[in-house]
Amino acid sequence: MDRKVLRNLSYGVYVVTSKDKDRNIGCIANSIMQVTSNPSVIAVSINHDNYTNKVIKETNKFGVSILKEKSNAKIIGTFGFKSSKDIDKFNDIDFKEILEIPVLENTCGYMVCKVIDTMETETHTVFLSKVIEADDYSNENPMTYKYYHEYLKGNAPKNAPTYEEQSIMSSDEDSKTKKWKCSICGYVYEGDELPDDFVCPICGVGKENFELVTEE
Ligand code: FE
Repeated sequence: MDRKVLRNLSYGVYVVTSKDKDRNIGCIANSIMQVTSNPSVIAVSINHDNYTNKVIKETNKFGVSILKEKSNAKIIGTFGFKSSKDIDKFNDIDFKEILEIPVLENTCGYMVCKVIDTMETETHTVFLSKVIEADDYSNENPMTYKYYHEYLKGNAPKNAPTYEEQSIMSSDEDSKTKKWKCSICGYVYEGDELPDDFVCPICGVGKENFELVTEE
């Protein structure tokens, strides 16, 4: 079975948000699809290990913010590679509250959803959800997972449905340029040396968190 074929499916890059008592929480999701049009129902897949999964099960309500290509990549670093258990992800992020759910500014727009059913897989919960409020902010290109992978050179967090081991993701790349990989988010920098003041464009850590990628 050649699982690489799954990489031809299209995915976006979304921030799924909710509220744990008075605390705003959220994570990145790339597996979201519209299931029906009227009423508007979507399916969202969230890993069991994500704190957001637990909170959505308690509140039955969440937001989806659709990132655009020009959205600040640090949003992905914060929401995709850190846990709401440890930090306030909304510190430094522009957002507003809609129906008591935080949604992000500087995106293509948002949906606020109410869970109508769930389905469990071994690793993820699929939340079948009705869209109860929404707004369309811009006509800019939404960020796709392919764009994130190819242009921002980012990887899927370990909890993403599309996560693959690094050897699979990079098997089609054959280059003699040195590669340095961020140990936090997987961003790959190409060049002989990392500049001293280098900061990961996705998760914001310094060069000390980068490791030289050695080819197998
Ligand atoms: Fe990083």
